[in-house]
Amino acid sequence: MEVARYRTTERTRARRLPERVAYDRATVHAILDEGFICHVGFQVDGQPYVVPTGYARVGETIYLHGSTGSRIGLWPGMDVCVTVTLLDGLVLARSAFHHSMNYRSVMALGRTRSVGDPDEKEAALRAVVEHIVPGRSAEVRGGDRRELAATAVLALPLTEVSAKVRTGPPKDDEPDYVLPIWAGVLPLALSPGSPEPDPLLDSSVPLPPHVASWSRQAPRPRGRGRSAR
Ligand SMILES: Cc1cc2nc3c(=O)[nH]c(=O)nc-3n(C[C@H](O)[C@H](O)[C@H](O)COP(=O)(O)OP(=O)(O)OC[C@H]3O[C@@H](n4cnc5c(N)ncnc54)[C@H](O)[C@@H]3O)c2cc1C
Repeated sequence: MEVARYRTTERTRARRLPERVAYDRATVHAILDEGFICHVGFQVDGQPYVVPTGYARVGETIYLHGSTGSRIGLWPGMDVCVTVTLLDGLVLARSAFHHSMNYRSVMALGRTRSVGDPDEKEAALRAVVEHIVPGRSAEVRGGDRRELAATAVLALPLTEVSAKVRTGPPKDDEPDYVLPIWAGVLPLALSPGSPEPDPLLDSSVPLPPHVASWSRQAPRPRGRGRSAR
């Protein structure tokens, strides 16, 4: 039976505001599934790089993909730190010091595996498309042999993982609460604009439901208590 929590390791044990950090799979999965962009941190010849890129979660694996000519494509078997961040609001305090953000983030540590098996590779690439727009992979042309050969897919098993979540109003210093300065939270959410058809699109092609009804509708966490940066 799958354990509901990721094991806390020395590397994932929170030292700063540990009450904010969670290791349960449900919280981690929800953040990964709502996010679009991950940042992949790794080191080459002592130089750290952090590459923003797309991804998808399938079960307990994060799939990354890139051109075989990109750094991501060239470095299977590398130690990485992958983060995903959702920004839920700007936290405006009475003092400059206590300004903050409401967020949900995930950090995953581990070693990537190059995906060579054609079936797993194809499923991973389909998952990347589905992650962005659910329902789309069934309607688009799949990758051909040349495209698949030019695409490297890496798998990162979710083993050393943590989530961190900040919710709620600003936490000012007690004497500052009497200051006549507006304080509170400016909520932020990702919402789509009107779809813009490709100028080269045949005008007889209708807007598909998966575009018309696209949304990222996960409920935003709302904290009631006070919370520190
Ligand atoms: C949008 C956003 C804005 C932020 N702004 C600030 C800021 O202005 N100042 C500030 O000090 N911090 C900020 N943070 C929090 C920041 O990400 C770190 O948690 C914090 O700096 C402590 O880092 P640390 O390595 O010292 O923590 P430690 O407690 O030493 O980290 C130990 C372990 O806890 C886990 N962990 C720590 N942070 C996170 C995280 N964010 N997500 C998932 N797991 C985590 C990791 O497994 C990490 O290895 C922000 C986070 C986000 C997402």
